[in-house]
Amino acid sequence: MLRPILRLGDSILTEPTQPVDAITPELDKIIDDMIETMYAAPGVGLAAPQVGVPLRIFVVDPSMGRDPAALIAMVNPEFVSREGMQLEEEGCLSVPGFNATVVRPMHAVIKGLNRSGAEEVREGRELLARAFQHEMDHLDGRLFIDHLRGIKRDMILRRIRKLTRAGKW
Ligand SMILES: [Zn+2]
Repeated sequence: MLRPILRLGDSILTEPTQPVDAITPELDKIIDDMIETMYAAPGVGLAAPQVGVPLRIFVVDPSMGRDPAALIAMVNPEFVSREGMQLEEEGCLSVPGFNATVVRPMHAVIKGLNRSGAEEVREGRELLARAFQHEMDHLDGRLFIDHLRGIKRDMILRRIRKLTRAGKW
């Protein structure tokens, strides 16, 4: 089932999320919905708070559905390591229409539970490392614009306020 994606301005996006206690059938359904919603958007990743679920879960697929092996669903993820630096344009399904250059690690290793509840370690470089960091930020209530310097961030927020007033956000 497709779920509506919350946009900047919704308080769920700026609050930290809770760890998952147990992988229940309800939780499995949420993960299915997140995957479907991410592919339909389309996007490279989606975190549970973006669909209004304040839990530590994200899904990513840097192939955007082209490679079935590239799909990763992580429950209660944590960083094992982050190294290096990359500077690329980045966007977010919760901030549609806006992109900005964000500093991210070049290489990131995370561990968490997979959908079956087994511990899994995943290693990402380049786009996948960026996606890991972007989605982990969502789980802590941070959006990519929070990494921008004042002027750039203010400009985006001003434009979004204008869109909100016009009923277009
Ligand atoms: Zn995002």
